[in-house]
Amino acid sequence: MADSLAAAVAAVQSLIGDRADAWDLARLIPVPLLRELGAAGLLCAQVPTGYGGLGLTSLLGGELTAETGRLCSSVRSVQTSHGIAAWTIQRFGTPEQRHAWLHRLTGGELAAVGFSEPGAGSDLAGMTTTIRRDRDEVVVDGHKAWMTAGHYADLLVLFCRYEGGAAAVVAPAATPGVQVRRIADPLGCRAAGHADVRLDSVRLPADHVLGGVGLPLPLLVTTALAYGRMSVAWGCVGILRACLAAASRHAASREQFGKPIGQHQLVAGHLADLLVAEQVATRVCEHAGRCWDAGSADQVIATVLAKQVSAGQAARAASTAVQVLASAGARDGQVVARAYRDAKLMEIIEGSNEMCRLMLAEHALTLATEEGQ
Ligand code: FAD
Repeated sequence: MADSLAAAVAAVQSLIGDRADAWDLARLIPVPLLRELGAAGLLCAQVPTGYGGLGLTSLLGGELTAETGRLCSSVRSVQTSHGIAAWTIQRFGTPEQRHAWLHRLTGGELAAVGFSEPGAGSDLAGMTTTIRRDRDEVVVDGHKAWMTAGHYADLLVLFCRYEGGAAAVVAPAATPGVQVRRIADPLGCRAAGHADVRLDSVRLPADHVLGGVGLPLPLLVTTALAYGRMSVAWGCVGILRACLAAASRHAASREQFGKPIGQHQLVAGHLADLLVAEQVATRVCEHAGRCWDAGSADQVIATVLAKQVSAGQAARAASTAVQVLASAGARDGQVVARAYRDAKLMEIIEGSNEMCRLMLAEHALTLATEEGQ
């Protein structure tokens, strides 16, 4: 398994290389490269080998995500969306659906996921996109907002109202009635291809509804988002590693007042903070990854904790790293400037800071109640 991770990391390094800043400036990742990453199983590395994936554990898949995030948060964002799509199919699809769709996701087709809507962000209970059954077809109507990788995706996994509950449906992006509109100027992860998607009477075969039946919305979205949170948390570890390396390199080489700035204690303090941030985030992610791999009951809350800690650490650390590089990091095309913009978004997505804090507080109250019994 460790060999599979080493090979996957080497493949990601060779495919992404040092091109993240160029893609960020162009606001585009070359699609053939994304397809190559997908066909090598690198966008959903935890999918079992029987479906063409690499079968990595959560912990090792996390390390691969961190390395992707270290190199390029836009590619990592595409990887997160694609991975959520695969995980949703794996968890909620029938054996036939898993066979049909997962092979496509490990064969070079690209996927994006749609939970959010203009009126339903933090509160997904406000979702209004519907799937309606019509004999052996279903009809999807609604509007999904901010779908990461929506601009690149061949397949859209859409979370919708269905039969008194909810369901995820797989919609090929080329289906009549699907309109993908790219978001032109996102604050960060600028090459991740965010898009708003309108769905007007989109007709699909009924067997595109995963599992075929309505499920409770909280079960569906919590399961899917848990994968996304884990992926984002590891992506933040990658951002932290990139910031730590860039700031340390600069502090060792840039001289002011007759010595490297890293020897001025206030700058040295920034480097210590960056190292602490990277280590803390790594440890909480490793803990959560072990919970996933052990199938522990703590998996969900450990994941929320990992996302909350890592996103906060990444946002603060990226700001610190810009401070260390100062003018050398204060423009587009600089790794810390990109990290600064990308990291901020990590505090918004897959459950904002506030929503994660509310979940953690609820957990704390549950623990207190259990201890009191
Ligand atoms: P709102 O829900 O309007 O919240 C605004 C503010 O109020 C936030 O600070 C929030 O934390 C706070 N708030 C809201 N309710 C409460 C409360 N009860 N208590 C305390 N604070 C509260 N969506 C997808 O479906 N698929 C994607 O691939 C995807 N990718 C994204 C990529 C990016 C870069 C961005 C920016 C967004 C993406 N989203 C995606 C949407 C994302 O999930 C939402 O932006 C997020 O859930 C927050 O929703 P909102 O933006 O509508 O903010």
